[in-house]
Amino acid sequence: MKLKFTKNIMIKSLLLFAALFLYYVLTSNGLGNKPYWLQFRRFIPMSIIAVLTFTFIKEKSSLKYFITFLLTAFSWILVYPITYKLTYNANMPFFSNHFDIVFAVYSFVGLTALVFCLNKFLKPSITVIFISLLQFLMLLPPLVELLYFYSYGTCVSETAVMLLFQTNFAESKEFLLQNLGVGGLTAIAVALIIIFYFLIKTNKAALVTIFDYNLNKKVSVFLLVAAISATGYSFGNAFPQTGIMTLFNNVHNYFAAVDKFKEYHVQNYENLYVEKPAVSFSKPGTIILVIGESASRTFMSAFSPTKNNTTPWLKNESNNSNFILFSNSYASKTNTVKALERALTEKNQYNDKEFNQSVTIIDIAKKAGYYTTWLSNQGTIDSSDTPITLVGRTADTAKWTNEDPTTVQYDGSLLEYLKEVDNTRNNFIVLHFMGSHDNYQNRYPVEFAKWGNPEINEPILNYDNSLYYSDYVLSEIYRYAKDNLNLQAMVYFSDHGTVPDWKRHPDKNPFTSLRIPLFVYLSDEYKNLYPDTTKTLIENKNKYFTNDLIYDMMCGILNIKSPNYDETQSIASPKYKFTRETLRTNLGETPLTADNETSLH
Ligand SMILES: [Zn+2]
Repeated sequence: MKLKFTKNIMIKSLLLFAALFLYYVLTSNGLGNKPYWLQFRRFIPMSIIAVLTFTFIKEKSSLKYFITFLLTAFSWILVYPITYKLTYNANMPFFSNHFDIVFAVYSFVGLTALVFCLNKFLKPSITVIFISLLQFLMLLPPLVELLYFYSYGTCVSETAVMLLFQTNFAESKEFLLQNLGVGGLTAIAVALIIIFYFLIKTNKAALVTIFDYNLNKKVSVFLLVAAISATGYSFGNAFPQTGIMTLFNNVHNYFAAVDKFKEYHVQNYENLYVEKPAVSFSKPGTIILVIGESASRTFMSAFSPTKNNTTPWLKNESNNSNFILFSNSYASKTNTVKALERALTEKNQYNDKEFNQSVTIIDIAKKAGYYTTWLSNQGTIDSSDTPITLVGRTADTAKWTNEDPTTVQYDGSLLEYLKEVDNTRNNFIVLHFMGSHDNYQNRYPVEFAKWGNPEINEPILNYDNSLYYSDYVLSEIYRYAKDNLNLQAMVYFSDHGTVPDWKRHPDKNPFTSLRIPLFVYLSDEYKNLYPDTTKTLIENKNKYFTNDLIYDMMCGILNIKSPNYDETQSIASPKYKFTRETLRTNLGETPLTADNETSLH
């Protein structure tokens, strides 16, 4: 009898092991010898413990008891590893999502044994609510992963989790409404209620099937140990290493690293040496840097042949000899934070500097004797300050439109803030637009809905309108600064572009999303004071450029010298070394030579 039992357990364990391990191998990629045997050894005891626990409990209950536990286990076993495999199989040579399987199996072992033991001491209703709630929470991550995969055709990625961290509640709401609609959100809410109801009902019926159980001592001890150790191991050790939790940890650690920025920044700023230019403006002057959002030069009439004249002001000024339009500029990444943490600091795709140890363009301007002002129509980011907000906060004055509930959050509101700038000192002003961030319809007042119906969501026309509005705001900033702030130089570039008729997708980066606008305005006085810088900028206007080099370009426009300014990286310097062949994008992954203009429209 005992021998038969042991044989039975061994055969079942072997079958479970074979099934799980085969599945693991099939959903992994490029497993070398080491991970293969490591997981091989990990899966053996796991399979035996699972079969033993199942067999002991099954003797005193029925199959019904396991339904909800199997549901949660299979959701973790299947969803992440399969969506991951489908997404990365072609492009990622090695991956292994074993912890999703390990968590699924050990949590199955731990929880089935735990509930079985608890049921002896607690009221059934309490046990049912406890386990149903836990299972409901466990089902949520796989459900979100499935929905994400359904929407984007890819597995949840680090970039997507990062967006989640950086997005405030209002933006999330807007994003969800835009992508799922009220109907979709209602359907999801109803589905969640049904799932919870199903869990309660099934668990209630299942616990009834537990027969009056008097287990022998050995089995009782085994189940108790399994309940405690497997639950502890699965939630304490395996769960934090599952795919989705690894993503969250990475993003969390990333932001922790960003916190260090504050720590290093004081010292970095103190140590920074900046040599001011030999000549300066006859009276206090202003230099303005405008950061656009999601503006693609492919859709801007000043840069490209477009159907609609989306940028009439800039197109007109392109004939003005004070304006220099750069025709071959690119983003370093189609992600606001990643692009701007490079654009605004020494860190770029071509050096290995850390963001938190890099000098910023605000530091340079301050040391060059400018009063610095940061005016932003972007989010401040609730609890986790994004790197951009951190840089902004180092300015002498920093304001965000969303910090004042009375300010309408159109970029035009920044003009009102600009009017508060004191013109009796040298000013360096950064304006951060919301530009053409989706949802495009929300980015401009109704009177700027030049194309299409303002009530109807037509992505390309709405996008054109947002560019048209940005063009207007830029013209107003230029006019005001010229008339009131002794404007000496104004630079505009975008963090990245976008493809307006696609669903927002964090990972697919065609070059339309990477081609950005860049222009420089120089006053007549500036041109006379700094003829070499002026000449260089004009000569370089058709050269290739990536926006992680904005920092160096601004150092050049400020005409400073510093050990923290490398002239060979500055398009404002005759020493500029980069070419189309040596520049890269997607954080160094893609050469600019891969941009084949003709294939993209
Ligand atoms: Zn952006």
